[in-house]
Amino acid sequence: MMLNQLIKEHLPELIDKGIIQFEVPLAPYTSFKIGGPAEVFCQPKSIYELIDILKFAISFNINYFILGNGSNILVSDKGIEGIVIKTSALNKMERKENLISGYCGASLKNLCYFAREEGLSGLEFASGIPATVGGAVFMNAGAFGYEIKDVLLSSDYLEPNLDSLNSLNPIKHLSAKEHNLAYRSSVFQKQKLIHIKSIFQLQPEDPKIIAERMHSFENKRKEKQPLDLPSAGSVFKRPDGFFTGKLIEECGLRGYQIGKAAISEKHCGFIVNLGGATAADVLALIKYVQDAVYSKFGVNLETEIRFLGKE
Ligand SMILES: Cc1cc2nc3c(=O)[nH]c(=O)nc-3n(C[C@H](O)[C@H](O)[C@H](O)COP(=O)(O)OP(=O)(O)OC[C@H]3O[C@@H](n4cnc5c(N)ncnc54)[C@H](O)[C@@H]3O)c2cc1C
Repeated sequence: MMLNQLIKEHLPELIDKGIIQFEVPLAPYTSFKIGGPAEVFCQPKSIYELIDILKFAISFNINYFILGNGSNILVSDKGIEGIVIKTSALNKMERKENLISGYCGASLKNLCYFAREEGLSGLEFASGIPATVGGAVFMNAGAFGYEIKDVLLSSDYLEPNLDSLNSLNPIKHLSAKEHNLAYRSSVFQKQKLIHIKSIFQLQPEDPKIIAERMHSFENKRKEKQPLDLPSAGSVFKRPDGFFTGKLIEECGLRGYQIGKAAISEKHCGFIVNLGGATAADVLALIKYVQDAVYSKFGVNLETEIRFLGKE
């Protein structure tokens, strides 16, 4: 049976509520502004709806992908087969004593501003990272020498299997240590766990001082990064002992262009969409840069961004 028919049969109430849609173009949901349609696109409004969608996908062996802010992905021009689950409606934030909690779909920027208003310090480094809380924990996002690991206390998550999702208490808990956070990596990636919520341990501070620190980090970002053009941030991970942008620049690739994708003039670690770039343009440029850097320096550049969808 076709996927849309299966869904109409098993999750009709989620279609009626507008939570499930079909053939939705994904480019507007990515920071690159690139990508074809999702065969099925869902925006659950509760954890129960999320669990129902996951149970359906796993029971029928259908591919699913959790989409946060779409700031670290490149979606195929041909789109994605299966179900894309966007978390943005799961966005509650709370304060308890010096702890701030955020659900997976909360914007990281909003969480940082909420902490600032509450006079809690520790997340200033993150206010300019375009992410959801789920995406930031999944990636152990970081900037200016700080990372999520420095402030994360615990998370709740779902396991991607039917026994766990059908159990009386499907929501599981991870301590800080159990996240195995390292440079742009976490247990969420390795075990395909679904992030639900995290709690961050912060310190009381004058909101004015917090605002100044945030402002200073955001200004540094504006100076160094091509924020006026669509991108997915740093395309490659930082190889040990090297700066990626410098390696690419020394290969003479500043501004190098394939189709409408280009190495940023401002920061060689970014690929920017000059307007109408395709995923194929970006993939060809990534390969070109990897080959050039390897042949000049013998360094393998591994991608930080994730490619999704049909080859
Ligand atoms: C202009 C710009 C600047 C950037 N600067 C930085 C920076 O300074 N530091 C930095 O670290 N990154 C930076 N990035 C990259 C990006 O913002 C981060 O990687 C961010 O953590 C991605 O979060 P997201 O919500 O957009 O995740 P998405 O791109 O939507 O997804 C990324 C991965 O996380 C997974 N995921 C998302 N939510 C969940 C969930 N709830 N459960 C399980 N898996 C989930 C997705 O399945 C996917 O595999 C930048 C990007 C841009 C465009």
